[in-house]
Amino acid sequence: MTEKGLKITKVNEKLNAVWASATKLLKKLLNEETYTQWIIPVLPVSFDDKKFVLGVSDEFFLSWLQDNFGEIIANAVSTAVGKKTTVTFEIGHTIPENKIATKAKKEIKKTTRSRKRKPKNCHNRHTFNNFVVGPENEFAVAAAKSILQSKGASPANPLFIYGGTGLGKTHILQAVAHQAAEENPDAIIEYLSCEEFLNLYLESLQTKMHARFRNRFRKVDYLLIDDIHFIAKKTSLQEEFFNTFNNLYNADKKILLTSDRRPSEINHLEDRLVSRFDSGLTVDIQPLGVETRMAILQKKQEDHLIKIDNNILFFIADKITSNVRRLEGALTRLLTFLSLKGGTLTLDDTERILAPMLEDEISTLLTVETIQKIVADYFDLKVADLTGNKRPRNIAVPRMMAMYFSRKMTDKSLPEIGSRFGKNHATVLHAVREMVKRQESDKTIKSTISLLERQLQNV
Ligand code: ADP
Ligand code: MG
Repeated sequence: MTEKGLKITKVNEKLNAVWASATKLLKKLLNEETYTQWIIPVLPVSFDDKKFVLGVSDEFFLSWLQDNFGEIIANAVSTAVGKKTTVTFEIGHTIPENKIATKAKKEIKKTTRSRKRKPKNCHNRHTFNNFVVGPENEFAVAAAKSILQSKGASPANPLFIYGGTGLGKTHILQAVAHQAAEENPDAIIEYLSCEEFLNLYLESLQTKMHARFRNRFRKVDYLLIDDIHFIAKKTSLQEEFFNTFNNLYNADKKILLTSDRRPSEINHLEDRLVSRFDSGLTVDIQPLGVETRMAILQKKQEDHLIKIDNNILFFIADKITSNVRRLEGALTRLLTFLSLKGGTLTLDDTERILAPMLEDEISTLLTVETIQKIVADYFDLKVADLTGNKRPRNIAVPRMMAMYFSRKMTDKSLPEIGSRFGKNHATVLHAVREMVKRQESDKTIKSTISLLERQLQNV
């Protein structure tokens, strides 16, 4: 054997040895089904001391794997190597059939087969089964399901779902795509983000394939466009979408859209589109309460062999409030830690392991100052106007709103809030009550409050 040949063999031996011990760890961490479906089909490709490359079959498999087990795999490989090692993935690798044990073979066949029926661009796990329903999102889920059930015209069509980041809008939209594909394999379903829609449109203009683009979207049964607010300011895309929308709508095809705000709040969106978007059902997803966050953590845990006590899950649910993606991240961190250390987790461990995430969470907490700034900006005022002693009419409502948000969205007490506005606690209490009351009688105040509230949630 030549020297070079020898070297390659050695590298390969190390590659295989590292992957064997990493998978041993992973096997301890993940439940059997998950391990069989997602780890067995992964192949070690190369290892150069710092970088470990793993091969997977396709883009779809890759994104699911990375989202769910990327961190755990990287940790397992680092442990196997004995030092921090970067793990990257390469697509286009398929495990040879004869290397797969019979049981695993069956599992893989099952996933590949069931994957064939999946709609394009959608994650496997974004189904209704995997979605935890709570009071904050139940209306959106019910509306999405009702669209699926309706044959022909539906009062919920188009369905427009809006809400803050990481609250499950994309998940629901893809769940509709999955269910539609399952119930009606012949249905033509297009799920894509508004950005992808724009790119396809621009590409079609450049390549003089505009007619083909038009036909593609005008023959669908389901048009599901994510983050439609991205269409703002794009005049010719709006024109194109308007025509597509009308075509589909008139033919009773289903149209579902998501956004971070309601149609009338999307700036630089033509009125005729606002009124089209609002012509069916517009529903929101509210920030999730602690019970729903807890239920999500419990559900996410089902995929894993290692179990975390409810009191620790509750700690996470209580502290990480901003969005579900972060909840998932915290859980993965703890599971990885446990898989490497074994034993059980104490609250102290948890706090230590999650420290960077908890800090992020605190820094995303709203302050009274931020509220004052955002409210002042909205009304074209200066912060000093809200905190000063002047009492012109145009300042009274913004000031009360800022106090109301400070009470509702921060953990500050009435006197603390009062002091930041140069007022006492009674004034704040009055402002809060007044805003609650006026929301019932004054539509403008109600919609301004809901608009500002969403802006504040997204700070
Ligand atoms: P959005 O589109 O509103 O920003 P996503 O749909 O991308 O949010 O959700 C972020 C992550 O949180 C996804 O991994 C999604 O599966 C998960 N998620 C959000 N809400 C729920 C829920 N109610 N139940 C289970 N998982 C959820
Ligand atoms: Mg989304």
